[in-house]
Amino acid sequence: TTTPQKGQIESVLKETYNKYKDLKEGKNADYIPELAKVPSDQFAIVIIGPDGQVYSQGDVDALYSIQSISKVLTLARAIEESGAQAVQDKIGVDPTGQRFNSALAVEQNKGKELNPLVNAGAIATTSMLKGNTYEEKWKNIIQTHNDFAGRQLEVNEPVYKSEAATNQHNQALASLMNSFERMYFDPQKSVDLYTKQCAININTKDLAMIAATLANGGTNPVTKKKVVSPQTVAHVLPVMATCGLYDDSGIWFYNVGLPAKSGVGGGIMAIVPGQYGIAAFSPRLDEAGNSIRAQRAIADIVSKLNLNPYLIQ
Ligand code: GLU
Repeated sequence: TTTPQKGQIESVLKETYNKYKDLKEGKNADYIPELAKVPSDQFAIVIIGPDGQVYSQGDVDALYSIQSISKVLTLARAIEESGAQAVQDKIGVDPTGQRFNSALAVEQNKGKELNPLVNAGAIATTSMLKGNTYEEKWKNIIQTHNDFAGRQLEVNEPVYKSEAATNQHNQALASLMNSFERMYFDPQKSVDLYTKQCAININTKDLAMIAATLANGGTNPVTKKKVVSPQTVAHVLPVMATCGLYDDSGIWFYNVGLPAKSGVGGGIMAIVPGQYGIAAFSPRLDEAGNSIRAQRAIADIVSKLNLNPYLIQ
């Protein structure tokens, strides 16, 4: 790869935004009732470079819930606190080959061989974070998100309440995990913490800053705070590469070659290690649960700026 010039980044960003701004394919997630209400036409793309330079297009200040992307941050924190081996042993790091909220995936291996980016593994990862009480663990989680984003984030209360009232399936996953002794804190409190972390509100600049912090070896490029170590990041990115886009993780990696993570709120972040954090947001999702415009926008940008690390030319 080569390092693109600033003007080139700006023009590719603009071109990509214009190419997809009228695309209306897909639909908002609606299994969490509040997500169905998010304005579907919102669209934003942000790139942040190693010097903290921000390039943006579209509704960059629009707030939305982070959803599954929070799983990456709690994974990073768990590795930082307990070590890579502990996460491998207590959660697992292999793709399950099942849907992101599969109970079958838990049952078939007695709660083992999961990964921190599917719901059961993510709830268990949240349960293993440091803190003796619900409050202490929550402080740890929100602080981690704040540090990655470089500013204080808030919980989207309507989304949190909406999901807390309808997350019986996640509660069941936590109970099933607990039956196999694969939960490391009270299972229902852990589900609640997980539901709350998924409801943290971000905008696309925050998402790109989270991505840029990962691209920068765990140090926020603007605040300069070391959020997690480079060694931790080196374990997080491969899990994103193999499990970041639900059932289409393989298709994504095959085509784009970058670790990424999506959330049902419509956000996707991709990491160009050592260089850029790229984020895009658009609420309309495909069948796999990935934002259609966000996927296409990031894929185009990676191709036009020649950021695929596997493409040597
Ligand atoms: N809170 C959502 C759930 O647990 C996250 C889903 C997602 O973004 O994949 O179902």
